[in-house]
Amino acid sequence: MITYRQLVHVFRQLKFDRRNTPVIVHSSLSAFGKVQGGAETVAGALFAEFPKLIAPSFTYKTMVVPELGPQRNALEYGKHSDANRMAEFFRPDTPADRLIGILAETIRAHPSTDRSKHPILSFTGRGVNGVLTSQDLQEPFAPLYALMDQDGWVLLLGVDHRANTSIHLGERLAGRRTFVRWGLSTEGVQQCINFPSCSEGFETITPHVTLITQRLRIGRAQVLALPIRGLVDMTQALIADNPYALLCKSDNCPRCRTLRAELETRPLPTLSNQSLLRE
Ligand SMILES: [Zn+2]
Repeated sequence: MITYRQLVHVFRQLKFDRRNTPVIVHSSLSAFGKVQGGAETVAGALFAEFPKLIAPSFTYKTMVVPELGPQRNALEYGKHSDANRMAEFFRPDTPADRLIGILAETIRAHPSTDRSKHPILSFTGRGVNGVLTSQDLQEPFAPLYALMDQDGWVLLLGVDHRANTSIHLGERLAGRRTFVRWGLSTEGVQQCINFPSCSEGFETITPHVTLITQRLRIGRAQVLALPIRGLVDMTQALIADNPYALLCKSDNCPRCRTLRAELETRPLPTLSNQSLLRE
């Protein structure tokens, strides 16, 4: 059984200035094995050791698909009326999606944390003035850019790079094209541009970031920590070297298939969302 004391002990072995460095945490609590006190205990240890902390609190249940929309957007329009009826309105207290993990939801639900307002890709956290409010519908990953600007770090607890949202920031800065999605909010259906591509291929970055990654263990879970700037720089370098880098291998992945098809017909993927929307 993993205890609060053990968690703190492991976090204190990380070799960066934890008190002053903002950290984004991605986690799978079930990867740890049994934790005394569950997600609350891990959240408490994170709050104690990382005063500047954020986590994704994404809400995919808020997504709707219109009858018509831009082409080459990795979506089939007009076939989602049943799912649209099941969609939920984004509210400040909408739980983070289960895919994001119970720990992220525990952080989101804690009275000391704030949350940004993006109807699909919100972030939650505390001690990070200006980071959460930097986000808008145009730039969902502005908080990650702000974290990088403050020399922030990524902390992966029991998850691999497929959960590492900061790689999407590297994709964006590398010019990889993005998608348009729609989120239901109390203000109506909101168009969310710069929605990222898929992250299923992100594990292939692992050998390229070995030198900047600190590795520890908590119970059965692997703990990885690395600086966002180095991660983003490497993402950009990999895509510059090979435009197909970090895409997943699945033939059934609409976003990766769309990007591959475009790369096959266009040597340089410079299509912006604005030109996409005009088509
Ligand atoms: Zn994919």
